Amino acid sequence: MKKIRVRFAPSPTGGLHLGGVRTVLYNYLFARQHDGDFILRIEDTDQSRFVEGAEQYIIDCLKWCGLTPDEGPVAGGPVGPYRQSERKQYYGAYAQQLIDAGYAYMAFDTPEELEQMREQFKTVQDPQPQYNHRLREQMRNSLTLGEKEVKSLIDAGTPYVIRIAMPVDEELSFTDMIRGEVTFKTGLVDDKVLIKADGMPTYHLAVVVDDYLMKITHAFRGEEWLPSAPVHLLLWKYLGWQSQMPQWAHLPLILKPEGHGKLSKRDGDRLGFPVFAMEWTDPKTDEQIEGFKEKGFLPEAFVNLLAMLGWNDGSEKEIFTLPELISSFSIDRVHKGGARFDYEKAKWFNHAWIQRLSDETMAERLVQFSPSHYGSVEISYLIKVIAAVKERCHLLTDFWQQSSFFFEAPSVYDNDSVKPKWKDQHKEFYLSFIERMAGLKPAEAGAFEQIFKELAAEKQIKPGELQMFFRIMLVGGKFGPPVFEITSTIGLEQTIKRIELFLAQIS
Ligand code: GLU
Repeated sequence: MKKIRVRFAPSPTGGLHLGGVRTVLYNYLFARQHDGDFILRIEDTDQSRFVEGAEQYIIDCLKWCGLTPDEGPVAGGPVGPYRQSERKQYYGAYAQQLIDAGYAYMAFDTPEELEQMREQFKTVQDPQPQYNHRLREQMRNSLTLGEKEVKSLIDAGTPYVIRIAMPVDEELSFTDMIRGEVTFKTGLVDDKVLIKADGMPTYHLAVVVDDYLMKITHAFRGEEWLPSAPVHLLLWKYLGWQSQMPQWAHLPLILKPEGHGKLSKRDGDRLGFPVFAMEWTDPKTDEQIEGFKEKGFLPEAFVNLLAMLGWNDGSEKEIFTLPELISSFSIDRVHKGGARFDYEKAKWFNHAWIQRLSDETMAERLVQFSPSHYGSVEISYLIKVIAAVKERCHLLTDFWQQSSFFFEAPSVYDNDSVKPKWKDQHKEFYLSFIERMAGLKPAEAGAFEQIFKELAAEKQIKPGELQMFFRIMLVGGKFGPPVFEITSTIGLEQTIKRIELFLAQIS
């Protein structure tokens, strides 16, 4: 059997978003499941949309997700180069082959002439006329101009593009792995540009040539590419490669949580859309948009939630490791309809993964995630803290909120909750408590609770109220894990210090 080869073919035009990474993931799972190759190809032929740094960004994102390509600009491989801008020499000859066979033609129209065409032929039914089988007869191209004129235009260095000549009335179809049979009428598609005036191919020609030369067997791509499929089908046919055409799967859109409308770039800020924050800023707001990584998602959770956006294994199971996904994934369980992205559900996945990873692994992740908070902390201590608070954390960013008091005394207290109930007897209680605790050895932190309760009984004060004060002394407010879990973690000396600090400011 032919070796399975799939590719992820992003254009380096900005950040990588949810939909893009889900495409990578499905490609990756399919390749791994079949012992195939997963290739990264950078589709950078559109110089006007090129963004400096975007390729590295894509590579870093894939690495963070654990979806490392077998071949690509970094890994290299037998069918490189893997950047289309470095493959320019391949495309021209194929375009010429298409011209010679009458499947493509040269078009010399200037931008002004194209604009004029749009104005002249626009009607109510067709407000945006396209360069197609109907209008190409009216334009300046190698179909309408004489051979001599074409030659003299070329000799004079006149810029031109090469367009595919779409057949007037043919029906084309292919079998999509997700949608089944899909049919198109060629007459509805315009004569797409294959080679631009700068000599660079467009996506349409480059994707076909490279999928062929790179021996791609299956291509998973976003649904937005479905309208281009007839052009690609024809190119596979016209270039004589039809029997080697990859099987396509057009993946459904990812929708807003409300369930209608495609998730747009603008939803990014609200929903933590890109994988990482980008080095470049959002041109509209001039702000850096936070990504999933910065928001505190674990890559395991991110990959898991992406897999479930449009697929399930037929059971209720939702938590999958990457190896589990590799063995369970099947293309026939990918939904045809759009998948709804729900940020709350995304957090649910992350919470589940925080509970699932060991406290030791979580400690490593937290140190990496926030070195300023955890970089100089004793790891064994951090592990204890994680065990105490992880149940309350959905995102890595929640850990500091939930645990800062394990590392430093509070700087502000919720005195509004204390003052109405605070009496001298309380102060006396805590002074006696300090005295009794001071007699303990540091290792006896577990005895705090007993001493506290005995003393409360002796002084006949309700322990509930005392505990509320105690919590505020330890953490600053009415939050955090059980108080005696905190005291046994921070230890004797810190506990006494925090009571003293509190008493100093309340009276
Ligand atoms: N360069 C295209 C993109 O940016 C690739 C589409 C495909 O996978 O064929 O999405």
